[in-house]
Amino acid sequence: MFSEKFLLADRVLQVAPSPTLAVNAKAKALRAAGADILNFSVGEPDLPTPAHVCAAGKKAIDDGRTRYTPAAGIVELREAVCAKLRGEQGWEYTPDDVQISCGGKHGLYNIFQAVLNSGDEVLIPAPYWVSYPPMVQLAGGTPVIVPLKQENRFDIEPAALARHATTKTKAIILNSPSNPTGAVYSQAALAEVAKMAYEEGWLVVTDDMYEELFYGEGRVPHILHADSRLKEQTVLSNGVSKSFAMTGWRIGYSVGPREIIRAMNKIQSQSTSNPAAPSQYAALAALTGPQDFPRQLRDAFIPRRAYFVEALESIDGVSCVAPMGAFYVFPNFSSYYGKSYNDKVIDGSVALADYFLSEAQVASVPGAAFGADAFIRFSFATSMATIEQGMGRIKQALAALR
Ligand code: GLU
Repeated sequence: MFSEKFLLADRVLQVAPSPTLAVNAKAKALRAAGADILNFSVGEPDLPTPAHVCAAGKKAIDDGRTRYTPAAGIVELREAVCAKLRGEQGWEYTPDDVQISCGGKHGLYNIFQAVLNSGDEVLIPAPYWVSYPPMVQLAGGTPVIVPLKQENRFDIEPAALARHATTKTKAIILNSPSNPTGAVYSQAALAEVAKMAYEEGWLVVTDDMYEELFYGEGRVPHILHADSRLKEQTVLSNGVSKSFAMTGWRIGYSVGPREIIRAMNKIQSQSTSNPAAPSQYAALAALTGPQDFPRQLRDAFIPRRAYFVEALESIDGVSCVAPMGAFYVFPNFSSYYGKSYNDKVIDGSVALADYFLSEAQVASVPGAAFGADAFIRFSFATSMATIEQGMGRIKQALAALR
């Protein structure tokens, strides 16, 4: 008889499948079966990949660029990443400091595989992106969750980090703009975290995937600007999925100390070999071609963000911090917990998201998946009409709870 414990490795038994991808798959299946589902679950831009990027991918295929590339990725793309960081941030890197991976997610996976030993602790501010704790666990590390506060607009809290740090702390993950909260860490708080990380010798992993989708002025504050000495102990993670609407092309990049990148390349050479060659050429066109697309994307999101936040805040008992980046709203619904519908008690975010899906045909991701059960995540990378309709349904569904 099948016994998971006998057949499967302990490391895989301790993690669950990605909830963002699971809800998205469920919503798509329900829709395919004829249900009128409004999908706010997975985070992917609703605009198509820019035409010149698609053309570069097609040309790469036609030109026969369909063979293995170096494990680290084609040198032109790694150079383009260096040029971007030099031009936008003033940071100097060389192609040997860059790895191209199968999406930002895979880059983060490689980082943790490369640096963590069994028992190493990684500080993860919560609400966190769903895949951080499982990635740390799959690498043998221990995720240490550091709760951030809604009343502090989910800014990073140096004092909370200090309380959770131990002698086993090896690394810290910073994600600003944050998925799921949309929070952008303040320069002042980052300066304190930088000091702490430098003094304690923590490896800093910055997930910068949403940097282009910032609703403030100028560029998003970054910890490397707080203390440039941290460069020797920081790995940047990013990709083209969000900024160029290229989620399915699967191209991310990691940039950091050469020894770490070399270790990551070793892992990549023994696992995926390299990210798909045509995708790398498409990403090269994205990074070296016209740069107006991320701005267009951001401009498309501005009215949706404003409408969503206002509509949520207008519901009795719901509060929502306006996201300063990314394309998610993360409202607090906890005042509805304990209420019921048809004798079924809504005891938390999983039950409420299930209720929204079954009774309102609205797909969302429960906050529990992000380590924050009071909340539910909605992506606003969808049309205004869908958002308006979805909000109507949510209001109605909440009003039906007793
Ligand atoms: N980062 C996106 C999200 O949170 C993509 C899905 C995923 O890989 O989790 O929805």
